[in-house]
Amino acid sequence: AMIVMKFGGTSVGSGERIRGLVERVRERLPRGPVVVVSALSGVTDLLIRGARESQRRAEAVHEIVTLLLERHRDVIQSLFTSGPQHAQLMSHLGLVLTELQTIYTGVQYLGELSPRSLDVIAACGERLSCEIVAAALEAGGITARGVDARGLLVTDEAHGRAQPIMDETALRVRELLRPLVAHDVVPVVPGFIGSTRDGVTTTLGRGGSDWSAAVIGALLPAEEIQIWTDVDGLLTVDPRLIPAARVIS
Ligand code: ASP
Ligand code: MG
Repeated sequence: AMIVMKFGGTSVGSGERIRGLVERVRERLPRGPVVVVSALSGVTDLLIRGARESQRRAEAVHEIVTLLLERHRDVIQSLFTSGPQHAQLMSHLGLVLTELQTIYTGVQYLGELSPRSLDVIAACGERLSCEIVAAALEAGGITARGVDARGLLVTDEAHGRAQPIMDETALRVRELLRPLVAHDVVPVVPGFIGSTRDGVTTTLGRGGSDWSAAVIGALLPAEEIQIWTDVDGLLTVDPRLIPAARVIS
């Protein structure tokens, strides 16, 4: 048996939340969990803001990269004070942010932000959260492995709103995820991102991690897809806009 457990941005938004995630996964180990994660809350917005700013003001980009560094460093530090995992996560963070800075600089010089570049930029959040969550599971004594969704979810070329190509994704899901679960390893997959047949990074559109979880769950196939989030159930309307929103029974 297998289940998909998807955790949204708030559920991976702090060290404390991630420790909670580890316990939720631990409780369900006998069910063969596959974990799908969003970026840390607020991170995708920052990444996209940085992309827009890079066409205007270089100083703003520097501020945003610094904010991203601090946001992730704080979470990493609250999970691991030191040791090899701390060092490994910090060096991964450094690599991804250096790559990001380079792309921002490219956008700045060209004065042009294509949907294709924006996808590479927006994908950085899930690449980071995925490694942090995998390390936290390992630290909690759960064998886990971060899987690069860019090798997993095959999509068309509609950047910013890519559609998964189900038959090709099915092959990879079966090849890459099933053997891990069969060996009691918990795969941790970044939601929201995929790649074209040629390996070009794509995203499924804002909020797309739920969709990633659904696709992976359908193709495994999983007996259940769980969406762990910061609201209880499905609301009648966005509660940030209409406080009278209520849970649909
Ligand atoms: N991180 C992406 C977003 O903020 C995808 C998601 O969270 O579902 O849109
Ligand atoms: Mg969401």
